[in-house]
Amino acid sequence: MTETKHFMRPDKDRFLGDENPFEAMMSRFDYAAELLHLDGGLYKVLRNPEKQVIVSVPVQLDSGEVEVFTGYRVLYNTSRGPAKGGIRFDLGVTLEEVKALAAWMTWKCAVVNIPFGGAKGGVVCDPLTMSPAELERLTRRYTSSIIEILGPDSDVPAPDVNTNERVMAWIMDTYSMHHRHTVTSVVTGKPVELGGSLGRREATGRGCMIVTQEALQHVGLPLKGARVVVQGFGNVGSIAAELLQRAGCTVVGVSDVSGALANPKGLDVADVVAWRQEHRYVSGYPKADAITNEELLALDCDVLLPAALENVITARNADAVKAKVIVEGANGPTAAGADEILDRKGVFVVPDILANAGGVTVSYFEWVQDRGGYFWTEETVNSRLTEIMVNSFRNVLGVSKKYNVNMRIAAYTLAIDRVASVHRLRGLYA
Ligand code: NAD
Repeated sequence: MTETKHFMRPDKDRFLGDENPFEAMMSRFDYAAELLHLDGGLYKVLRNPEKQVIVSVPVQLDSGEVEVFTGYRVLYNTSRGPAKGGIRFDLGVTLEEVKALAAWMTWKCAVVNIPFGGAKGGVVCDPLTMSPAELERLTRRYTSSIIEILGPDSDVPAPDVNTNERVMAWIMDTYSMHHRHTVTSVVTGKPVELGGSLGRREATGRGCMIVTQEALQHVGLPLKGARVVVQGFGNVGSIAAELLQRAGCTVVGVSDVSGALANPKGLDVADVVAWRQEHRYVSGYPKADAITNEELLALDCDVLLPAALENVITARNADAVKAKVIVEGANGPTAAGADEILDRKGVFVVPDILANAGGVTVSYFEWVQDRGGYFWTEETVNSRLTEIMVNSFRNVLGVSKKYNVNMRIAAYTLAIDRVASVHRLRGLYA
C-alpha cells in the first residue's frame, strides 16, 4: 500500500456514522485524496459543495388543501462543465443525501470523462400517494423555485428515483415558458419526441450490463450461466436484469420495495416485468419463491446488482453476501463500513460512480444532440456508450493495479485527479 498523508476534516464529528451518505462519500474521498497527495487547499475546495439551495414548494392538492414541500438542489462542483444530476422525489430525501449524491455525480462524470460537473436535487414527498396533477404542480413549482440555477450551460437535471420522462417534460416546459422559447437541452431523460435520446431509458441498465461483462471476465467467470441477483426492480434494475439475461446470465432473484423473489432455475425477467406492469410491484409473482429483501442479499449467486437506494450492504450484513462480484447500479448502496468486509472476502466491487455511469453518459449524448439539433441512431448511441464504459472500466482497473487499491478507491482517485487538474489549470478566481 502506498504511504499516505492524513487530512483532518473539521466536521468529521458531525456525522453520525458510515451510513450517513455524505460521510460514506467523504471517507472514500479522503482515502483517494491521500493517495494523490492532494494539496491541502484543493482538498478543502473539493470537499465542499459550491452551492446548496433549499426551497419551500407550496402546492395545491386535489382536495383544495395547500401543502408545502421542501426541495433541494445542490451544485457540488462545476469546474469541468455545467452541473449535471438527477432529481429525486422521495420521503427519505435529506440535504446530506442530496449533497452526497451531487458529489458522486461530480466524480462519476469525471470517471467517464464527460464535460460536466455534479449536482443533485430532491423534493421530500411521497409521489406514490400523489395524483399526476399534484405531481405536475409540484414539479412546475419546484422548477420555478430553482429556475435561476437551471440552464443548458449551468445546471442540467435528469430523472432519478420516482421521477421519469414525464417529469422531465414538465421541467423542460416550465423552463421554456419562463424563457419564452423552447429549450430542450435544459434537462435530459426527456421523451424522445421532445428531444430525448434513443437509448437513454435503457442506458444505466445497459452500462451495468457492460461493466458486469468486464468484471466477470476480469475475475475469470464465464458470462454465460452466471447467476445474477438484482435488488430494486425499477428503471436501472429491471433493464439491467433483462439485458444480462439476454447476454446469457441466469437471473435467480429480484426484489422491489414490496418484497423479493427467488428462483434458482432462473426467472423469466420479461415475464416479471409484465407482472410488475400489471400489479405495480413484483410481489405475488407466482413462478418464484417469495423471500425477504434481506434474504435476497444473501442468495447464492455470482453477481449481486443493488439497484434501489443507499446503504443496502452495510457492516451488519456484508458478511452474509455470497456474490463474487457486486455491480452497484444504485448510488451509494454500500456503506463505507462494508468495504473492508467485502475486500476481506475477496468480493470484486464495481463502484457506483463507474457502474451506473451509463445513464449520465447517454444524458451527455442527449445534451449534445439537443444543442446540435441532430439526432443519432440507437446503434450509434449504444456503441459510443459501450466504448466509454469499457474504456472507463479498464482505466479504473489500471489505477487499482497502480496503487494496489480496490476499484472504488481507484475510481475516486481517477475522478479526483481529473477534477483537481482542472482546478489547477483554472486557478483560483479571487
Ligand atoms: P426507480 O424509482 O425506477 O426504481 C427504484 C426501485 O427500487 C423500485 O423498484 C423500488 O420498488 C425499489 N426499492 C425501493 N426501496 C427498496 C427496498 N428497500 N428494497 C428493495 N427494493 C427497493 O429508480 P431508478 O431510476 O431505477 O434508480 C435506482 C438507483 O439507481 C438509485 O440509487 C438512483 O440514484 C440510481 N441511478 C439511476 C439512474 C437512472 O438513469 N435512472 C442513473 C444512475 C443511478
